[in-house]
Amino acid sequence: MKLIAGNWKMYNGPGETREFFEKFEPPSGVDVVVCPPFGSIGAAVASGRTIFAQNVHWAAEGAYTGEVSAPMLLELGVAGAIVGHSERRQYFGETDETVARRSLAALDAGLRVIACVGESLEEREAGQMELVLRLQVEAIGESVGAHDGLVIAYEPVWAIGTGRTATPDQAREAHAFVKSLLDVPVLYGGSVKPENAEELLAEDGVDGALVGGASLDVESFTAICRAAASQ
Ligand code: PEP
Repeated sequence: MKLIAGNWKMYNGPGETREFFEKFEPPSGVDVVVCPPFGSIGAAVASGRTIFAQNVHWAAEGAYTGEVSAPMLLELGVAGAIVGHSERRQYFGETDETVARRSLAALDAGLRVIACVGESLEEREAGQMELVLRLQVEAIGESVGAHDGLVIAYEPVWAIGTGRTATPDQAREAHAFVKSLLDVPVLYGGSVKPENAEELLAEDGVDGALVGGASLDVESFTAICRAAASQ
């Protein structure tokens, strides 16, 4: 079964979250996850759908202002977390080491994890895609191994929020490389929309999608879930 995860980033407060879930009727035959911002987690969990956080700390508690722990998320009814999203790496100093620590702690606590990797445009153009993916994936693999609760999201940074999607061939090639390093399901992320979901999800090794912008709109997100269910 494919996994479709909606990353809402810093959009949708509790009221908008309730409105979204009142209308959201995903098809069966697809594993659907929504990742709201922290303040909307309570409203999202109340929907009865599978909810992930967008980040999680490695400590169970402590003096880490602005962070949240795996036991706290579990107590809220959260089932998993995104870790190492490129926006965390770019704006908040997330490193391969902290991504590995967060992933390990979350999995040990019983959360599922979507760990994000991906190269920038400069790295791709410099022929460094495989090198970057190897460093990012091996950091996670060395810490966690091929854990049952772990999924990798391949998200080329140049395709996130840009409207520029990897071609199905580029996605297949990168997913095969990631899987050669760590044998876990791999999601594609980067400007996935109803118009391109079906052909991306049909590729070998594309086990689902991490969807940003298009997950904010109930109709678009439902259409992507339907494309996944029909595979
Ligand atoms: C994301 O936020 O993980 C993402 C892939 O965003 P978008 O779909 O908007 O490119």
